[in-house]
Amino acid sequence: MHLTFTRSPLDHGALQRADPAFVEASRNHPAARVILLTNGDVVMSPDAEPHIVHPAETAMMALQPPGLVFLGLEDDAPWFAASLQPDSVPPGLDFRRATMVADHDTAAILGRARAILTWHARRRYCSNCATPNVPHDGATKLICPSCATEHFPRTDPSVIMLPFSGDRCVMGRQPAWPPGLFATLAGFMEPGETIEEACAREVREETGLKVISARYIASQPWPFPSTLMIGLMAEIEPGEPVAADDIEEARWFTREEVRELYEGPMMRWGPPHYSISRLLIDTWLKSG
Ligand SMILES: [Zn+2]
Repeated sequence: MHLTFTRSPLDHGALQRADPAFVEASRNHPAARVILLTNGDVVMSPDAEPHIVHPAETAMMALQPPGLVFLGLEDDAPWFAASLQPDSVPPGLDFRRATMVADHDTAAILGRARAILTWHARRRYCSNCATPNVPHDGATKLICPSCATEHFPRTDPSVIMLPFSGDRCVMGRQPAWPPGLFATLAGFMEPGETIEEACAREVREETGLKVISARYIASQPWPFPSTLMIGLMAEIEPGEPVAADDIEEARWFTREEVRELYEGPMMRWGPPHYSISRLLIDTWLKSG
């Protein structure tokens, strides 16, 4: 089972979408589909599936700017996304819940849709001169008509890692998490640092422990709203963790303790393939 939001079936059509005639033809393609969000959640059909329509069906819907966003091609079928005015439809299904139960491809398409639509909602005006931006390339980018600044959808890299030493790993918990849950550490990268440096800094900030080396395992787009999770195993020096920053408690775990935790009540927190945290933990469990 692949991580949710990875291995999207879409070819983004990055070269074709710059041609307005291609985007127009895609909108009129009989197999074209639009996936609908509202307020970041998923608009559902009466049969409790994500509500997917043809672009022509959106003519009577209250779409938020910029209207239809070209997501890419699944084989020859064009996919678009649109965000509906919240007061024009019932509340959508919570995005996490919707993508936990959706099939893999639909969840990946929803992830791309949410990242781009959230960016549009926050970037109506040029961040350089405050003029309303104009969509281009199927609304996959914005250009300011006044100062010509180009604006592209955000991707915010974040490191997520499981620190370990010998036969034990360190996990932490955040105050907002369900009682008893411990998981990997994570944090956004900062300008001017490498992935390895961000990993070492975050482990030091959250536990006071020192990273010896970091090894890349996998990455996962995380559309809340536009993070790219970069997953690492971090070998650390032994020592007593001191929780700080956004971590309220951090401690050492044996493999047996981790198995007990994750094969017990934590299973209800979400399916294992939903988060890269679980993949890192499973990778470590299998390595010993
Ligand atoms: Zn501007």
